[in-house]
Amino acid sequence: MRVARFLTGFLLTSASLTLSVQAFEIIAHRGASGYLPEHTLEAMALAHAQGPDYVEQDLVLTRDSQLVVLHDIHLETVTDVEQKFPERAREDGRFYALDFTLTELKTLNVHERQNADGTPVFSNRYAGNGHFTIATFEEQLTSIAELNRLSGRNIGFYPEIKSPAWHRAEGYDISKIVLETLRSNRLDDPNANIYLQCFDFEEIKRIRNELDAKVKMVQLIADNDWGESDTDYSALKSPKGIKEAAKYVQGIGPWLGHVTTSTNPPSFELADWVTTAQAEGLQIHPYTFRLDALPPGITAEQLLQLIVGKWKFDGVFTDQVPPVKAFIEQTNR
Ligand code: CA
Repeated sequence: MRVARFLTGFLLTSASLTLSVQAFEIIAHRGASGYLPEHTLEAMALAHAQGPDYVEQDLVLTRDSQLVVLHDIHLETVTDVEQKFPERAREDGRFYALDFTLTELKTLNVHERQNADGTPVFSNRYAGNGHFTIATFEEQLTSIAELNRLSGRNIGFYPEIKSPAWHRAEGYDISKIVLETLRSNRLDDPNANIYLQCFDFEEIKRIRNELDAKVKMVQLIADNDWGESDTDYSALKSPKGIKEAAKYVQGIGPWLGHVTTSTNPPSFELADWVTTAQAEGLQIHPYTFRLDALPPGITAEQLLQLIVGKWKFDGVFTDQVPPVKAFIEQTNR
């Protein structure tokens, strides 16, 4: 069990101020993605060893309805699919996990995330030539459970249902399959050590109402321009929208760039919609703390002080668990 952690004697301004913070949840974003190719079993295992509270799994479906752990419905940004199956692109030139069986996907090598021109998205990350493969959700669930058993830890799961409306348009009900998997692993339970996340608010409502989910859920918040879902995030961020969301979810996952009143000029004051969400009792788990992609003009330490101390968020998604964990431990001393 996680123990509530307390930040004591944390100096927010010149005045000495004692803050107490409930358990701060460190979520290993796509596993230890700052160190090894994202979402692989190796990245999951390294993340587990780094001791976060949760390891994240983004979920998409294969043609044979298996849940695999991939951030995108597309494959070419993180695998060698274009070399192994060059004829299997759709008309848009992209390769979709849904067009491949699990057996086919298992033949692919997973590499660091690349831009369309083949350059790495993060210039200073894993550059070795290890052979990594796509993991299934079941593999991650059972492996994390085993690592918990062997290490005496209780690290949780943080799956995200990717593009449910797109999957349904393709004839696949991904949410139903995720819920069945959670139920067969006894994880559809408000007391289980898991959060289920999704960007699509209509789907969150459907999962709660129609699929009768009991699991804790997090509504992810995007920008309307990003094309994550048909959800109108401006409406969702209104006081009425936040109140509505709070009927279905236990937390929200905002982008760190959206939580303040202004980014240009930079402000460190929380936007009203975030304080409204806090007042509604929603957990705030923003994405993503990246040591190698910090907002301009701010150090890692300063950003963590804002997230933990000033904004009093309840957790954070991070590509690098160790610096976040070190900060929390040092602050609690
Ligand atoms: Ca995610």
